[in-house]
Amino acid sequence: MTALANLPFNPEHCFIDGTWRTGHCNKRLTLINPSTGTALCRIARGDETDIDEAVAAAAGALNGEWGKSTALERGRMLAALGDLVRQHAEQLAQIESLDVGKPLTQSRADAMALARYLEFYSGAADKIHGETLPYLSGYTVYTLREPHGVTGHIVPWNYPMQIIGRSVGAALTMGNACVLKPAEDACLTALLFAELARQAGLPPGVLNVVPGIGKEAGAALAAHSGVNHLSFTGSVAVGAAIQASAATNIVPVTLELGGKSPQLVFDDADLDAALPFLLNAGIQNAGQTCSASSRLLVQRGIYNELVERMSENYRQLRVGPAVDDLAIGPLISAVQKQSVEQYLSQAADLTAPVRGSVIDTAPDNGFYLAPALFHDVPANHVLAQQEIFGPVQVIIPFDDEAQAVSLANGTDFGLVASVWTRDGARQMRLAKALKAGQIFINNYGAGGGVELPFGGVGKSGHGREKGFEALYGFSVLKTVAAHHGV
Ligand code: NAD
Repeated sequence: MTALANLPFNPEHCFIDGTWRTGHCNKRLTLINPSTGTALCRIARGDETDIDEAVAAAAGALNGEWGKSTALERGRMLAALGDLVRQHAEQLAQIESLDVGKPLTQSRADAMALARYLEFYSGAADKIHGETLPYLSGYTVYTLREPHGVTGHIVPWNYPMQIIGRSVGAALTMGNACVLKPAEDACLTALLFAELARQAGLPPGVLNVVPGIGKEAGAALAAHSGVNHLSFTGSVAVGAAIQASAATNIVPVTLELGGKSPQLVFDDADLDAALPFLLNAGIQNAGQTCSASSRLLVQRGIYNELVERMSENYRQLRVGPAVDDLAIGPLISAVQKQSVEQYLSQAADLTAPVRGSVIDTAPDNGFYLAPALFHDVPANHVLAQQEIFGPVQVIIPFDDEAQAVSLANGTDFGLVASVWTRDGARQMRLAKALKAGQIFINNYGAGGGVELPFGGVGKSGHGREKGFEALYGFSVLKTVAAHHGV
């Protein structure tokens, strides 16, 4: 618990207008440590009034020095914040592992990714600009990129640091002022991030963090008429509700809703190179990853070899507490564990899965689940169609390229996809044919890639975060046409 003992703020407070304060209704929620199933600490249960105050504080910041800041000044502040995140990376990682149950190595990578987002965006701040447009004689026409104003960020529990980095980082770069509602299951790194932003000199109101329940604080933020842009990452059902709220207020919304992302492995693939990606992209963060690769589509010529080698890898997988830093930690909550078990209970018609194992010393009340690998799964099976959000992968055979594309595109989702083949022409054909926001050729995830625009099609959502696309998304283009005569 040392990591929690040294927090430079009271986790029972909200961060609004540059100050730490008790939530309006003075109620609390309890965070649970997924590795032990026991209480970790209490957090504020922010409500509609807290959201109101946070939105007002953000609007106030836009009317103050933040609203007048230059891109260079914002870039410098974000660079300072990125430096502080880097200095506190170990503390951020330790509390993330306590809060999310994520193995330490993975939490450390998330902390460094948060720093890297801030580094990337801080460098981009003064390099993003409008254009001059050729037009009628006697006119000069140019465009300006301006902030939306107050941006609302509703963040899930699975990758708090990375998602804050990619959305809040981009919004701040473009001069917006943010209200962040972290997930009720995991919000400590969001709070520490707020404290680091204060220390980095972000003016009051520029970043506000209101923890709370989705249906209370989250819904209040989504419905608030003072919010000018919404960014949401989470489930499809809540995403639809957020989009409905955004429609009522006619504000733009970015939705990132997860997926059922495939890896397509052809007979000519370099299997030795592919195997670590086929495995890790499925089990990282215990499969609770929006871009988890939960479907492996494999050509028949290498099917048996691949199933055998993946099975051997699965048999060796060990699950245990976050501090043990094994391949897999616990799931986030008892509810999430039940949800995954519910999916597994629908697999009676399938060949028995190959399972890893939970280590003997794992605390009895932790939310542990042995990973499961299924093969010969029919493409229309519930396990092959729905996002399970747990350490479960299915292997599906295919005969030829046309069938592979049809299977890959055969779900409601389209977040990412990868293709493993040495055939260059096939790589190009599939990059076009696959329906997803990111396509990887002979890799998966490209190492995270803060520079690479990310987002989905279909029920995976819409809008793009990461890279320069995020900066376009978090700004409004204004066209200025000046008539001055010839
Ligand atoms: P969720 O969609 O319920 O919650 C995500 C965020 O939205 C949280 O901050 C939550 O407080 C907030 N929220 C919930 N209801 C809200 C509402 N009515 N109005 C406004 N905000 C609201 O996701 P969850 O319960 O954390 O997980 C459920 C499922 O969602 C998972 O099993 C998984 O399939 C999916 N999920 C996807 C991602 C992803 O990265 N795409 C992340 C987390 C969860």
